[in-house]
Amino acid sequence: MTNNYDDKRGIGMTSDRTRNRLAKRLEDQGIKSLDVLDKIRVIPRHIFVDEALASRAYEDTALPIGYGQTISQPFIVARMTEELLKHVQGGKILEIGTGCGYQTAILSLLFDKIFSVERIKDLLIKSKKRLRSIGIYNVSYLHDDGWNGWKKYGPYDGIIVTAAAAEVPEKLMQQLAINGTLVMPMGPEGKQELINVKRCKEKFEYKKLGAVSFVPLIKGKKLKK
Ligand code: SAH
Repeated sequence: MTNNYDDKRGIGMTSDRTRNRLAKRLEDQGIKSLDVLDKIRVIPRHIFVDEALASRAYEDTALPIGYGQTISQPFIVARMTEELLKHVQGGKILEIGTGCGYQTAILSLLFDKIFSVERIKDLLIKSKKRLRSIGIYNVSYLHDDGWNGWKKYGPYDGIIVTAAAAEVPEKLMQQLAINGTLVMPMGPEGKQELINVKRCKEKFEYKKLGAVSFVPLIKGKKLKK
């Protein structure tokens, strides 16, 4: 794949050195996958946030991306991606909650094809442009309510949901391939857990992966600004 990160590499607070430091911090916090750490070093996170926040893009923190939404914290992006990679090699990934597209970009370098669904149209359009500007083309985008999944291209080897719900949406379960894995935050605000659901034929096995904090998976797609 040809990527044009070079002109987006940044200087000072947004340079390669800053990204290396972030990767090192994530490694110290327990991220083991060298593939994931490598992609954290490669993707320029500062182009996913407002210019005024660019200097904070490599702190391990969530930042606002408009519409009351946040770019997920790098540790969480790395943790969820690492979890998917443990179970899925190559393959098709369904992502619910494109947001600013940072998680999408990381996934695009590790899996064959990404299908990304976002309910806020403006965020989706901007993310698509942003990813194309750095040469990422193996992503398809859909403006819809992620509770519906994206039936047309399913079943998926992996599903990642980047917003929290009290239950795993039924349609996502249906669109998960046999032996596929879904990773998502589950539970009400203040009590969310990251979970992994593995499909074995008609049986689903749940595993808890630790406490997290996400914005909610809202029902319905947003039609107007
Ligand atoms: N991982 C992304 C976004 C995290 S915020 C990033 O790092 O930028 C969660 C995103 O999920 C938001 O963009 C929000 O609009 C979206 N979202 C919430 N409910 C949704 C739904 N039902 N369907 C699709 N997207 C949804």
